[in-house]
Amino acid sequence: MLAFKLIFCFLFSWSISMAQNNVPKNTSNDSLNAFYKNFYQIKFNTLLRKEASVSNFISIETQGIKIFSSLKNKKSNKYEFFMAWNELKTYQNKNYLKNYFQKYIKQEKEEDSLFVNFSTNIQKNDKKQPIDFKSLLDIIKNPNTKPLLDYRIAIDPGHVSADTTTARIEGRIVEIRLPNPANNGLDSIKTEIMESSMAWATAKVMKDSLEKLGAKVLLTREGIRYVAGENRTYLEIYEEYKNERKRQKKPFLSRKKYFYDVFLRQDLEKRANIINDFNPDITIIIHFNVEANNLGWKKTVKNNFALALVGGAFTASSLNSPKARFQLFRLLISDEIENSILLSQKVLAAHETILKVPTLPIKHTQKPLEKTWLYTGTQGVYARNLFLTKEVFGVLCYGESLLQDNEKEILMLNKKDFLVDGVLVSSRTKTVANAYLKGIFEYLKIY
Ligand SMILES: [Zn+2]
Repeated sequence: MLAFKLIFCFLFSWSISMAQNNVPKNTSNDSLNAFYKNFYQIKFNTLLRKEASVSNFISIETQGIKIFSSLKNKKSNKYEFFMAWNELKTYQNKNYLKNYFQKYIKQEKEEDSLFVNFSTNIQKNDKKQPIDFKSLLDIIKNPNTKPLLDYRIAIDPGHVSADTTTARIEGRIVEIRLPNPANNGLDSIKTEIMESSMAWATAKVMKDSLEKLGAKVLLTREGIRYVAGENRTYLEIYEEYKNERKRQKKPFLSRKKYFYDVFLRQDLEKRANIINDFNPDITIIIHFNVEANNLGWKKTVKNNFALALVGGAFTASSLNSPKARFQLFRLLISDEIENSILLSQKVLAAHETILKVPTLPIKHTQKPLEKTWLYTGTQGVYARNLFLTKEVFGVLCYGESLLQDNEKEILMLNKKDFLVDGVLVSSRTKTVANAYLKGIFEYLKIY
């Protein structure tokens, strides 16, 4: 029966049910090792290996997993790291992996702080009585019970800007001229939809609700105008840099060049650090999408969908440091991707019921995106090797809730009817926040 099950799994793609398959019991070490070898090889092939050459850095064998720094070293069996199968459970222990990781990355003299925390599977509320979603919303309004007590939830509102100058540098503003619906289309309006502001408003609504239910919540950006980890805007940071260079009588980069060459990488590292230091049970990364084929965003589209990203889909060029190769190893042997897929599945289902945005169909037209991602076997959920999906430890959902250039969404999003942190945004963000909340509640089994 086991043999049949294994063969069945080899023939078909990765699935959640497969990830949750129990490891065979009462078997000899040899057959257990064979099970692990096959299991992790399938996981590697389906979720982690975006291109064949990623295999140059790893070998999944009957004895265990070897990591290599190059194909040359793989050919001569000079591995930089080896884990025997009988050590698997030890490595899956978060503290062991964390400590080992710190030791391991010292090879390239990187600071340890990035990797001090590692959270794994959480099912704390298994025994609690579930509460229905409507009651939870009532509790938020009038809290008398704390079903999320002891939970730590990190929320990263994507992008940087809350001003049009930065949003244009960032390329995260949808400015489309449309017939004015308020005047029967006799004149036109120009939309001004900033992804960063909407992401922050969504995160703030979520934070307030989750805290009322007892959770500890972290926002990576503390104000709608501020960049991650600072009480400053991007333009203020740039001015400081420019003035300092001027003072030193040195040349300085333009606002745009500084943004892409210096700021952006630091910003992402800061977000990952802040989240990992917080040691969350769950991380939600909030983004809003545009139709991949609507280049330049000059017109609206009929299409609309939600999707979610999790870690995985490594390319060979991304594995050029021991640190990156260890992240590949970590995502392979831990159950972080599997749990992230489950969380994402719940979040997308809630987007359908609460937000009325359908999940991206398995057969879709977003071809430009297929270059970078791998399908996880769960509709709308894709593995993608983004900085945060790789560097953030633990269970995460990187959500893209809707298409901002959809013909109906754009009108809703352009309505500035919700004041948050002194900035007017669309109240649609409140509905997006509720969709995420429902997904989180279902994943944590409090609903
Ligand atoms: Zn985005």
